[in-house]
Amino acid sequence: MKAVRLVKLGKALEDTAVAVPEIGQADILVRVAACGICHSDAHYRAGISPIKSLPVALGHEVAGRIEAVGESVHHVAPGDRVCIHYLVSCGSCHFCSRGHEQFCTTVQMIGKHRDGGYAEFIVVPARNAFLLPDDIPFEVGAIMMCSSATALHALNKARFKRGESVAIFGFGGLGFSALQLARAFGAGAIYVAEINSAKLASIAALGAVPINATAGDPAEQIREATGGKGVDVSIDLVGSAVTMGQAVRCLGILGRAAIVALTRESISILPYPELINKEAEIIGVSDHLASELPLLMELARSGKLHFPFGTLRSVDLNATQINAALDAIEKSTGHIRTVIVPST
Ligand SMILES: [Zn+2]
Ligand SMILES: [Zn+2]
Repeated sequence: MKAVRLVKLGKALEDTAVAVPEIGQADILVRVAACGICHSDAHYRAGISPIKSLPVALGHEVAGRIEAVGESVHHVAPGDRVCIHYLVSCGSCHFCSRGHEQFCTTVQMIGKHRDGGYAEFIVVPARNAFLLPDDIPFEVGAIMMCSSATALHALNKARFKRGESVAIFGFGGLGFSALQLARAFGAGAIYVAEINSAKLASIAALGAVPINATAGDPAEQIREATGGKGVDVSIDLVGSAVTMGQAVRCLGILGRAAIVALTRESISILPYPELINKEAEIIGVSDHLASELPLLMELARSGKLHFPFGTLRSVDLNATQINAALDAIEKSTGHIRTVIVPST
């Protein structure tokens, strides 16, 4: 089969021909119909988050059709349309048994620690497969497995409740999902801080309050817009010390800031006014849980989570096209997502 693999850190991905992987008794073989090209993949290619075992087929946002199942697999069958949860966990360690499988002591991320979806076929444990309703295109199913799932996990970690106000920092792929999910769950006012003027216009069109981060401190603007109260939940999706600080400072009493994006910078906060005196919380968010995926499918099926025409584009399973898409990701962070759709 064809597989586009990372062979050397810091180098372009390569077209390779490899054997179709064998399945174990609890595994499924999936013919990849769509695989999202994610910002993390650009980091893996560049060696920013180094991968130890190479070569590997990247790609952790995968949807496709089941080709074959192992003998102990009964809940899915060949022909089923599925999305794939990207963390392969043991299911029995200290963390798995407490519902925190992203910290599994032997966790493997597909497309990083084991071969992912930049290939014609992928093998995963059957319990990583979630049925994709017929009315959700494979491309949408694929990209929901990363940015939408992580946006949902951020709202869950922040213990978001109906009626609460939300501030979202950054309106890329994650922010696009976070806004729609907050609306679907009955948020009060939703503020989205962004610097890009085209994105600010689309924020307003989606029913949220755009906060132009170039026009003054967004935390101050949000405090003003809330009559000085601040918001209940904030989510940082930018990954800079500046926006993380703003996500904390815009909180109201008992507010929770969910920090999702990565930075190597440290942030400084004033413990008394910004945390203690409000009993505010700063919460780290890492990946998402398999148990969160069915709700995501339901929201996509009912149209509450949607990716309008123009927000997705496709390329073939071809190293030249995929490398070009990764180059584009390194240069900008729009919410136009590129998905590999292998030609048959
Ligand atoms: Zn991703
Ligand atoms: Zn485990």
